[in-house]
Amino acid sequence: MKIFEEIESEVQSYARAFPRVFNRAKGELMWDEDGNQYLDFLAGAGTLNYGHNNPIFKEVLLDYIQNDGITHGLDLHTKAKGEFLQTFNEKILKPRNMEYVVQFTGPTGTNAVEAAMKLARNVTGQQNIVTFTNGFHGVSLGALAATGNSHHRNAAGVSLIGTHRMPYDGYLGENIDTTEYLDKVLSDSSSGINSPAGVIVETVQGEGGINVATIKWLQSLQAVCKKHSLLFIVDDIQAGCGRTGDYFSFEEAGIEPDIITLSKSLGGYGLPFAVVLMKPELDQWKPGEHNGTFRGNNLAFVTAKAAIDNYWSDLQFSEEIKRKGRYVSERLESIVSQYGDGNFTAKGRGMFQGINCVNGDIAGKITHSAFKKGLIIETSGADDHIVKFFCPLIISDENLKKGIDIVESAIQEVCAKEGEIPEEIVYFDAA
Ligand SMILES: *Cc1c(COP(=O)(O)O)cnc(C)c1O
Repeated sequence: MKIFEEIESEVQSYARAFPRVFNRAKGELMWDEDGNQYLDFLAGAGTLNYGHNNPIFKEVLLDYIQNDGITHGLDLHTKAKGEFLQTFNEKILKPRNMEYVVQFTGPTGTNAVEAAMKLARNVTGQQNIVTFTNGFHGVSLGALAATGNSHHRNAAGVSLIGTHRMPYDGYLGENIDTTEYLDKVLSDSSSGINSPAGVIVETVQGEGGINVATIKWLQSLQAVCKKHSLLFIVDDIQAGCGRTGDYFSFEEAGIEPDIITLSKSLGGYGLPFAVVLMKPELDQWKPGEHNGTFRGNNLAFVTAKAAIDNYWSDLQFSEEIKRKGRYVSERLESIVSQYGDGNFTAKGRGMFQGINCVNGDIAGKITHSAFKKGLIIETSGADDHIVKFFCPLIISDENLKKGIDIVESAIQEVCAKEGEIPEEIVYFDAA
């Protein structure tokens, strides 16, 4: 359609990789306006953990709209918000022995990060926030200062301040515990590092290339934070809401962040919604200090409650995610052992996985070829060198296998040497 070239800004990005006009979606499938079917392994970058147009959520949403429920409510108390809070407290927080206050921010991840960093600074009276190499926390100025990617940072137009970068787990090689370095510089009054308000970290770096922090590293990071009185912020916007297998990505580590950000799949249906969770004693906000018109997206409260009721009332969904995650690991390990001359590696945790193709050009060729075979899949990482498997968590076993088969066939094609072009697997003809 020409209208996109005519008046839509050049800032568009995903649309360039998947140049079709999409108009229908269900579960893990999408269709373009010509009726071509695609398998979605991008899933709104982790916003569609429960699939497109989840039928259970759709029904409660349609009922709510039909009955003229409140759609927009600023931060007014509404029945929908009250019921979300009740459900979140009873089914997510309490069973995990977590006592947190919930702050509704503007409905984007980056706004939750802004609020979390502001809060940490205001509570401690310190400006500096420790952030990590390859971290991604959003692109509004405060959050952008915490984001590593230079492509995003260079667009700021002003200096990005108030953060200090430290090496993430594994950044300096497998055997170097980078929390020891953090501890060292914080213990040294001549290290040149201003005393920080806190740290902000992803347990698995999504945009940064599926870098998985080990459980031990996360525990050490918390210990360093405790030792030096730093607030420990976990940005669980992408890794949370089940992606790694548990509701929160840090559950396996048994750590207790002071502040947690959630968004992406929190609303369940793909509706914009973000929150900051904070330990009760940190709730030192004065009324309206951090506000925003769309803090009351009541449609998202309704679907977020439905997501918790239907998927998180017991352990079944979590076990399913972990089972599927093990299958993905096995498949990816097998793929990297066969292709890429030993240079490819598989990485990830739960259903948060990828293949490191070392080279962004190769990874791009693979995702491009996969798209021709009917699979929507993206790359991530500093050089876009990671093929990122990010399908909805509710995907059928059959389609999970099919998606990975498509990537395998794409890799086979891209990695084939002269004279050994493999038989092409075509699931549909998108050409
Ligand atoms: C996506 C993301 C954000 C930013 O969320 P937006 O809704 O795009 O502003 C922040 N942190 C992490 C870890 C993310 O994955």
